Parts: sequence; structure tokens; C-alpha cells
Amino acid sequence: MEKNINFLIDHQCPQCGAPAALSETDRLFQCAFCKVNSYLMERSYFRYLLPHHAPENQELVYFPYWRFKGMIFSCLPTGIQNRFLDVSRQAVPSAHFPVSVGLRSQAMKLRFVSPETKGYFIKPTLPFRQLMETFLTRFNHDLPGPILHQSHIGESLSLIYAPFYVGQRIMDAVLNQPASGALDKPFELSRFSGGPADWRIRFIPTLCPNCGWDMQGRRDALVLHCQNCQSMWQASKQGMSRVNVAHLPNPEAEDIIYLPFWRIKADVSGIDLDSYADLVRAANLPKAIQTGWDRIPFHFWGPAFKIRPRSFLRLTHHLTLSQPRNHLIAQVPKGRMHPVNLPVSESVEALKLNLAGLLRPKKIVQDRIAQIQVKPCRYQLAYLPFEIRHHDLVQPTFNMAVNQNQLGLAGNL
Ligand SMILES: [Zn+2]
Ligand SMILES: [Zn+2]
Repeated sequence: MEKNINFLIDHQCPQCGAPAALSETDRLFQCAFCKVNSYLMERSYFRYLLPHHAPENQELVYFPYWRFKGMIFSCLPTGIQNRFLDVSRQAVPSAHFPVSVGLRSQAMKLRFVSPETKGYFIKPTLPFRQLMETFLTRFNHDLPGPILHQSHIGESLSLIYAPFYVGQRIMDAVLNQPASGALDKPFELSRFSGGPADWRIRFIPTLCPNCGWDMQGRRDALVLHCQNCQSMWQASKQGMSRVNVAHLPNPEAEDIIYLPFWRIKADVSGIDLDSYADLVRAANLPKAIQTGWDRIPFHFWGPAFKIRPRSFLRLTHHLTLSQPRNHLIAQVPKGRMHPVNLPVSESVEALKLNLAGLLRPKKIVQDRIAQIQVKPCRYQLAYLPFEIRHHDLVQPTFNMAVNQNQLGLAGNL
């Protein structure tokens, strides 16, 4: 369950047709042959399929599975528990098909579903949220309750279609093996709604909407950087939209990298948390409240990059308590930047968790967290400079360190 699998995806360049192998987390695709950049986009989630090895002339049925990879945080009276999760489950409840994609997919390459794929695609009937609830109910059974609050921060959510064909039994078309026992009555496909595939992965150009420059980013970057006009952009339904960026300038250190964080302003109800003075009171910080602190707005902070749950939580709390605000410059930093690969939509899922972790005394969480509402209103992408040390990246102003291995940076600096 905690395997942390990254699927590979067989793909073709939309410009020149050259074959390419993508990773599941890739968003920015640069073709090795024609060098054209494109950005991969889907409505809500990506749809993949497992390639089949069925005998010829078999009518294929593609059965859908939700696939979630991410972190689950459970807020308990004793503190916050975390767990990394990598699961797949039926997106249509059915006794005919296997409950999950199964282990075979580890060694398999996936493909994007496209209208050219022949076969009957069964339509998901179980919404992902509902599946998650069912899953959590089972998972929570083992936790020492009561669970005061829970959030799941997704690194990816996708739909994987697995191919089958029907004979005396349901046959798994990847392995060409029976996936069910002998059927006691004929299998009726018409009981499942669905039809031919009518989705296609979208590619949007990576040209800067402001100046036309070809934008850059690492392959898993969710935010692209225009090095010509120093702007940053993220893909949205309307195409590329501009991201509000700020940074804390480099404190003269030589070897630094900027790490991205989401700085989120939210309406909090059920507890006073509008200003820095409110934070000092809510978190019971050992500070005497000074004049003017009630006019300094409070912001939630959280990593805009993927990192293990424990570090995610530590950085989130540490920065939110530190409230970096002095000298934030509303510009893209000059220098090396770590890519944004955790979207703000997921960071927003952590707001209440963030709050629960900083309230003191902890008893307050138990008494009041259920009544507290946190509604995000606006956000900014804020880069903080970290010094590159032997094993760690160190932020001296706020006294934080991140292990390089956790960022997948080892050997890349
Ligand atoms: Zn190409
Ligand atoms: Zn530009």
C-alpha cells in the first residue's frame, strides 16, 4: 500500500510523432527529437490505460480504477499522525472485476486514453470522494481515536483503465488469464454504462502569454518560468494564467537555491486568526504582543513542492508560526529555483490541519476544531532562499533545514 510507484507512460510527441516515455508526474514535455515544448493538461485528472495482449478480434472492455497517491494526515488528541498512500480501487462497484489494478501494473507502461483506442470504456459511477470516505472509514478503524480532523493531500489522482474480454469467464487482457471464476450466467455489458473513449490529452503551448518567449521548467513543474519577462504561469482551464510571485532576497550566501511555498490568506471563523497578534495568542507563543501586531495580516504557509509527510508538516507549521513577511519582494527571484510540483489546490486542503497543529494548549483542538472553518481567499507563490550544505538545504533566517534526498536533489546540485 505504501509502495510509491511511479508509472511510465508510452507517448508520442504531438508535433513530430517521435516516441517518448513520460513519467506519471511529467507535465512539461520536451521532445528529444524536435525539441518542441508542450504542457500536458487534462480536465480534473489524467486517464490512462494498460496496454492489452488479447488475442485478435476480442472485443475489449476497459474497467476503470481510481488511483490516488498522496498523504493522509489524521489529527488525534495526542497529535497529528501521517501516512503516505498509494492505492487503486474500482471506480464502479462490481464483483466481476478485480478490486484494484493490482501488482502487475508496476512493471507495465501506461498510455493516455485517446479516441483511437478501440473498446468499451465503462463509466465510473463511484465518485472519488465517496471512495476516499469508504477507504478512510476502514483505515481509521485502526487509529486510536477520536479523529478530530483529517485531510488528504493528493500528489496525483488519476483514472486507470484495465482491459478485459469476456468468454466463459472474464479474462484479464493484460495477462491473458482468467480474472473471474466461471460465469454462472451470461455477462451483460449493457448493465454498465459507458461507450467508446472520447477523451484526449491536451497539450498547450509553453509560450509566455505576456511576451511570447518559450518558457522553462523541470518536467514535473506545475508553474512555468518566463526568463525573458520574469513572470510565472500555471495552466488553468483558460490556458496559462499568471501567478503572483514574491521572494525573500538572497542573504549574500553564495550557494543557494530558492524553495517555493504557498502563502495563503484565508477567512477563519470559529477562532480569531486575522492578525499576527491573533497568532501569538492562538499558538501561545512566548512573546509580548507589540503595538501594531494586530494590523499585520496573518497568512498560512506551506510547501509548494513534494516532500515526505513528516517534513511537509514540519515546514508547514514552522513557517506559519514564523510568518515571514519582512522584505518579501514581489518579483521572481534571480537564481536557482526548485520547481513547484504541489499545486495550491492541495496546499489549501492542509489549511485546517495547519491550524490544528499550532493551536495551544492542544486541548483547544479537541474542543473547538470541529467548529472552525477555514476558507482560502487569495494566495501568492513565495520563494525563500536556502543555503546548499552537504546533506541539507538550510534557511538561516527561519532556522529550517530540508534534507536534499527528500527533494530528489541528491546528485543534482
Ligand atoms: Zn517532437
Ligand atoms: Zn514572458
